[in-house]
Amino acid sequence: MPQTRRRIRRSRRTSAYIGLTALALGVTATASTGISSRGHSAAGAVASTVESALAPCRIAGTMGVQMSEGLPTPPGYARSTGEVKALNLMIDFPDAKGEGTALDRMAEFFPQTSNWFRTSSYGRLSYRAEAPIRTWLRMPMPFAAYGIERGSAYEPGYRQLVEHIAKAADSEVDFSKYDLVNILVTPNAGPSALDTVLSVTFSGNAEAPVADGVPLANTSFVYSRQDDGSGTYRETGYRVLPHENGHVFGLPDLYTSDGGGAVGHWDIMSEDWGSNNDLLGWHKWKLGWLDSTQISCAAKSGTSDHVLTPLAVSGGAKLAFVPLSESAGYAVEVRTQAGNDEAVCKPGVLIYKVDSDVDTGQGPVTVSDSAGSSGGCTRRPNVHAELSDAPFRPGETFTDEQAGISVSVVGEPRNGSYQVRITRP
Ligand SMILES: [Zn+2]
Repeated sequence: MPQTRRRIRRSRRTSAYIGLTALALGVTATASTGISSRGHSAAGAVASTVESALAPCRIAGTMGVQMSEGLPTPPGYARSTGEVKALNLMIDFPDAKGEGTALDRMAEFFPQTSNWFRTSSYGRLSYRAEAPIRTWLRMPMPFAAYGIERGSAYEPGYRQLVEHIAKAADSEVDFSKYDLVNILVTPNAGPSALDTVLSVTFSGNAEAPVADGVPLANTSFVYSRQDDGSGTYRETGYRVLPHENGHVFGLPDLYTSDGGGAVGHWDIMSEDWGSNNDLLGWHKWKLGWLDSTQISCAAKSGTSDHVLTPLAVSGGAKLAFVPLSESAGYAVEVRTQAGNDEAVCKPGVLIYKVDSDVDTGQGPVTVSDSAGSSGGCTRRPNVHAELSDAPFRPGETFTDEQAGISVSVVGEPRNGSYQVRITRP
């Protein structure tokens, strides 16, 4: 179906685009470390014990992988905790003049995007969207003249577009005040998102054009409208922006050239069309939205029990991780219909493999389906149905026979939490 075609195109393009140079940029040097030390000041010794217990689970990035699931996220990306200031510029072209006002265009994405990040981060990311220029910023050349296609990062056409944007905005905008930039393009420029998704993010890219002395290294471009015709655009059309901004914070694409079949609707970096969904617990750890005390690391041989609370609900233990090697492991978390996770049709324990040496768009995360070939439990549009019933229920066990690992859901004690028993050699 068209969804898959869009995914394929977008996957190829985005993977080719992200020119991660892993250079510190000064302005955005405070990349997420993935670890928050908040809340441990009263007990430094306990805190360091917690940290060292997690060390085997902090699988690291690998050389040669442009955008990795590894911890910590390398410098150069926008920080993902505290107050993050986003500059929004609405642009149009002489041959594609903005229809409606520029602020109408912005209102397709805000305040939903800020709310989405507040909810997903348990309030740790305070996303401040600003629009110092409240009208369309007219580009000097027609849209077609920039040659915007599924090109590569800051290829000549894009470089020229960004230079024109910086020049047009410079007298009214101090670019150095912002952590990231959103370019919201008039939807009548370029192809429909139903045919070709052009929306893209250049992140961690120190080669970017410079404005006010800072490179526009973390910039998301949104084109067209992700309107699938199901009548839900007003509620869910904004979701392309938290996806693109996810790249700005260092998250890779989880869909592959085959579509969303690796992770389904369990992370917005996998599927950003359709009903609302959250991020994986692994991503929340990577972004600094979970404390070390909310993670348990099953690194020792034998059996360990873990009580996990629903990921979408603030507080409590969220993630158990079973390291397999220095670059891979299994993550275990509880997903329920709450918070940003609107489409969950079978609550339970989600188990997935994380590979930090697999690149963006190549399948760095793979969800284990407790009910393979079931067809899934959702019929919502643009939700990969097969994996929608992936979570494991009490009495069910996931096994990796080769690695000798098993994860059993032994009970659902109360308040939506689940008890999980992990056995490893
Ligand atoms: Zn993407």
